[in-house]
Amino acid sequence: MPIIERISVAAVSVPLDVVTSFSTRTVSERHYCLVKVRSREGIEGIGFCYVGSAAGELAKVAVEQLFAKKLIGQESMRVEGLWQDMYSESILQGRAGSVMRAISILDTALWDLNARSVGLPLHHYLGAYAIDRVPAYASGGYYLEGKTPAKLAKEMEGYVKLGFKAVKMKVGRLSPKEEEARLKAVRTAVGQDIVLTLDANNAWRDLPTALEYAKRFEAYNPYWLEEPFSPDEIDLHARLAKMTSITIATGEMEAGRWRFRELIDSGGAAILQSDAAVCGGITEWRRISAYAGVKGVTVCPHWFHDLHTPLVAATPNAGYVEYFSDDQVLNFRRLIDKQLKFKNGDLFMHSSPGLGFNFDEKELKKYSLGKSIWSVLK
Ligand SMILES: [Mg+2]
Repeated sequence: MPIIERISVAAVSVPLDVVTSFSTRTVSERHYCLVKVRSREGIEGIGFCYVGSAAGELAKVAVEQLFAKKLIGQESMRVEGLWQDMYSESILQGRAGSVMRAISILDTALWDLNARSVGLPLHHYLGAYAIDRVPAYASGGYYLEGKTPAKLAKEMEGYVKLGFKAVKMKVGRLSPKEEEARLKAVRTAVGQDIVLTLDANNAWRDLPTALEYAKRFEAYNPYWLEEPFSPDEIDLHARLAKMTSITIATGEMEAGRWRFRELIDSGGAAILQSDAAVCGGITEWRRISAYAGVKGVTVCPHWFHDLHTPLVAATPNAGYVEYFSDDQVLNFRRLIDKQLKFKNGDLFMHSSPGLGFNFDEKELKKYSLGKSIWSVLK
């Protein structure tokens, strides 16, 4: 059995080429935390998460000071046990946020290491549902200076021309009337047969405001409306779901299976967007997905297609992978050495062991938040 010999952790900041906005926030750089977990046999598993647009070192400190000592010297195949050890160790500091993200990336690296140790692609190691490909939607439609509804429509039409059958745009930054004009332009451009989803990124604080938008959106047949409220407003999600014909989706910031149970049981999400790099790693993501399956809820995970493609491929009640076709919004692709292939609306899984890619060490040098890229613990 592989024994964990050492853990390396890095915090990096990757600037966006163009400052980009969604309903309530504006982003100019993205901070990621990266880990490599190495076995005595010299095999390395990797994990990574988005920490936020600042303070990328928060998750790194959790790896260094809370978790590394719980893992080093342990059998990497004891994933459930190691998850519990990390969770118990951080019960005062963690359970959500940066500390849970640190658990998430170490857990991911354990699954990756174990799959690589037996020479299997991750989705096969997990017990595949799909063998070679999964459906993806194009994520875009952000707010940029001078981006008119016509320009937005052209962008979304561009995704359809690339072969996407499903697309997503941002909503909620402008007035209801202006947002309706954006949506109308996009629906007209992409046609009725394209799955069109909307992401409000926690735009609204109360039901009447959300309804003012949702009622205008209904005429354009959106497939889902994502994160209408703050993730803590589970009750508002559930109440809105009863008052609009649009399916409500959420969960990208949520962590731990208990909160997901609350969310699902309330009726606040018919599409669940759990993110394995946020919710507690692949181990917790699978527990959450299994519960969602029992409740008839479909999982369409939040971004990081490099991580979620093999997970969707191993989950019967999973739907689309969220996919960014360039490095303008999700710029993580600059940090890795191999990209997934996309064709006719599908992403194709890597056939090499584990996640199927590695960090691009040369690129990491450009973005490190510390003097040296990796802090090595053994
Ligand atoms: Mg979202």
